[in-house]
Formats: sequence, C-alpha cells, structure tokens
Amino acid sequence: MARRCRKCSKGGGQAVSLRVFLWRGVKGLLKARLGLDRACEDVIADRLARCNECAYGTPCLKDRKVACRCQACGCWLQSKVKIKSETCPEGFWEDEQGDAEQRPEELG
Ligand code: SF4
Repeated sequence: MARRCRKCSKGGGQAVSLRVFLWRGVKGLLKARLGLDRACEDVIADRLARCNECAYGTPCLKDRKVACRCQACGCWLQSKVKIKSETCPEGFWEDEQGDAEQRPEELG
C-alpha cells in the first residue's frame, strides 16, 4: 500500500510504503518524547499558534480551540511542533532562520 509523502510534495510528492510512512511517524513521536532535536520554546509556541488557526488543523476532542492533528500530513501536532527539523507541509511555519513564510489566513 503506497501513500503520498506530503513532506516531499513540493516536488510532486513521492509514494512511500505504509511501512516507511509508519516508521517516520514512530521516529517523530520518539524524538518528541525523548526531547531529541528539540526546537526552542518560542518556535514551538509560534508553530502551535499557526496550526491552531490553520484549516488543516483538526481540533482536539478535549479542547476544540487547539489543533491536535494535521490533515495535510497526518502528523500529531503536539509532537511535530517540538521537533526542530520538522516542517509544515504547506509552508506555514517560519524557518529556523526566522524568515517568515506565509500564514494560513493569508491564503485566498
Ligand atoms: S498545514 Fe502546517 S500549519 Fe497547518 S496544521 Fe499542518 S503543520 Fe500546522
């Protein structure tokens, strides 16, 4: 079973096997849990704010104002935003150098 990797979608997307897709997810969750490759608190807060106002952010069941999962890439956002090397599949996060990318509300 092949899935589209949204991380690679800028180049047209690459089909990845379910095993690769799941492995990437497990690796990301472990990194977040163990605090490896951790982004600074300012970056985490900015990413969460952007996800919370994004149309791709699926609200949490406990608090509907907070986004739990990204519909664009399928990632769990509370973990994804903490990993420095993660990127927004739609380019809504600032990069590590602080260069602003577009915000979700700026889309037509
Ligand atoms: S598309 Fe980007 S900003 Fe929107 S929920 Fe997903 S990771 Fe967050």
